[in-house]
Amino acid sequence: GRDGARDTTWDVTIVPEGRSVILTFEDRTAAQDVGQLRRDFVANVSHELRTPLTALQGFIETLRGAARDDPKARERFLGIMERETTRMTQLVTDLLSLSRVEEAERLRPNTAVNLGALIAGTLEDLGPIISDSGMKVTLEDNSAGVHVLGDSDQLRQVIANLVQNALKYGADGEKVEITVDPPAAFRKLRGLGLAFHVRDHGPGIAAHHLPRLTERFYRVDSHRARGQGGTGLGLAIVKHILNRHRGRLHITSTVGSGTTCTVVLPLAD
Ligand code: ADP
Repeated sequence: GRDGARDTTWDVTIVPEGRSVILTFEDRTAAQDVGQLRRDFVANVSHELRTPLTALQGFIETLRGAARDDPKARERFLGIMERETTRMTQLVTDLLSLSRVEEAERLRPNTAVNLGALIAGTLEDLGPIISDSGMKVTLEDNSAGVHVLGDSDQLRQVIANLVQNALKYGADGEKVEITVDPPAAFRKLRGLGLAFHVRDHGPGIAAHHLPRLTERFYRVDSHRARGQGGTGLGLAIVKHILNRHRGRLHITSTVGSGTTCTVVLPLAD
């Protein structure tokens, strides 16, 4: 096998050439992997859409039949149908974001963005969601107004996704703390960068899940995540945006005490 862990697929072509033959070996393993990933993705999307659609169909039938003359049941079913519809809309929005981000992944962002100010602005935009959650979000900005090289709309999405996860999976009534560090040298960036952390005090994530969190549709507790309106695409979007920015995402977590997501971005100058 190519990496010793799995089989390699070869396309072998045999061409007669006078008294000899030419053998061509082409390693098709990578192409096959991509094909498999695409098929898995389509299967996942179909499943994610079919589940709420089946539920909606069931409720429509019930509303036409058994619940027709029961205003209380009708109201309850309509509430569930509304939630399922909202979730499907969120899923389609996330899928479009993901494909837009993937499309632009090779184009380097080229504007200077004041990261501290962008985080403060994003928290203002999230105001209603934060107050609905009953949690408090604090921001400590030690960046001294330093700029990173970025696309501000996409970086706003990174911040919003991480903060929304902290609100969704953090512990009720606890704080979510955001800290922006002073600029520092990062070996992996091969230069100066700016790091910020989003920290919650929720139940945390077991270590074996951590490497898989940015996979599409990967959820630790899918029932809880779905119940929270999660699509399973939030961190995949974050990862693609950071790839485009040559940035990094690092997640650390302690079960029982909370999770910290750290993002590092290269400085603008
Ligand atoms: P979702 O839309 O389901 O939230 P994400 O891609 O944003 O999808 O996150 C993937 C999974 O990672 C979530 O379903 C959840 O199980 C887990 N997760 C993400 N952030 C946190 C966090 N701060 N605390 C605990 N679990 C988290």
